[in-house]
Amino acid sequence: MLRVMVIGAAGKMGREVCRAVLGQEDMSLVGAVDRKDAGQDLGAVLGTEALGLAIVTDLEEELHRAAPDVAIDFTTIQAARKNIPVLISNGVRPVVGTTGFTPDELAKIAAECDRTGRGAVIIPNFSLGAMLLARFARETIRHFPACEVVELHHQQKRDAPSGTALRLVESLSGGSHEIPIHSVRLPGLVAHHEVLFGGSGELLTIRHDSMSRESFIPGILLAVRRAPSLRHLVTSMEALLEIEQ
Ligand code: NAD
Repeated sequence: MLRVMVIGAAGKMGREVCRAVLGQEDMSLVGAVDRKDAGQDLGAVLGTEALGLAIVTDLEEELHRAAPDVAIDFTTIQAARKNIPVLISNGVRPVVGTTGFTPDELAKIAAECDRTGRGAVIIPNFSLGAMLLARFARETIRHFPACEVVELHHQQKRDAPSGTALRLVESLSGGSHEIPIHSVRLPGLVAHHEVLFGGSGELLTIRHDSMSRESFIPGILLAVRRAPSLRHLVTSMEALLEIEQ
């Protein structure tokens, strides 16, 4: 049985992730950390029956009490920056969905994983469809080099451009040319990415829509199952799927 903790458990993604973990036969939800709703039973926050698991604020204390194998982080970049070293130094595998890490920060975390021989997962978009969008776009740019990216999200999303859009242009440009990103923040949106390719007298648009947060759950659960055996940092769904079990 995999022992799983959720950090940011009272947030939009955190609540969805808690529900998903509770529904897995091979996982046990052993800890819930958040600065919001602290002291409340997690069940009350999820709208289920009481679970006998209180939301707490102190990560390190909760790690010692709950002894998780894996900790899933959906918080803010400021919180996740602090949480990851604490998890790694306590031998807990981080599965991080929080966005906003710079390439430099990722390189430092990767070096720490290599040094300790204990892996981690930091993936800005856990959906399978978003991974395929990136794959199709890489194929298309060989024929249509002029392109721009539009990312559209709910208005509470704090970072702009989205982590997914940044990763997308990085993989499309190979660091060689600038691809503009346009960010839209509006109520009614969830998470949407499109790449527009302009050609002579034609336009090709590749678009992915996350209609609900459920779209991220299969990728997150896969990462949780793979995390204990990882020895290095994994930063994309493509890389995660390629890892042999
Ligand atoms: P949210 O604001 O609803 O939830 C964040 C939660 O973290 C809140 O409950 C907040 O109280 C908690 N938190 C913040 N700082 C904390 C701290 N220091 N200690 C403990 N808890 C703390 O946000 P959300 O929509 O759930 O998104 C969270 C993150 O996940 C964002 O960075 C977002 O971009 C990212 N995200 C990633 C994916 C993906 O597939 N990787 C998908 C959706 C969202």
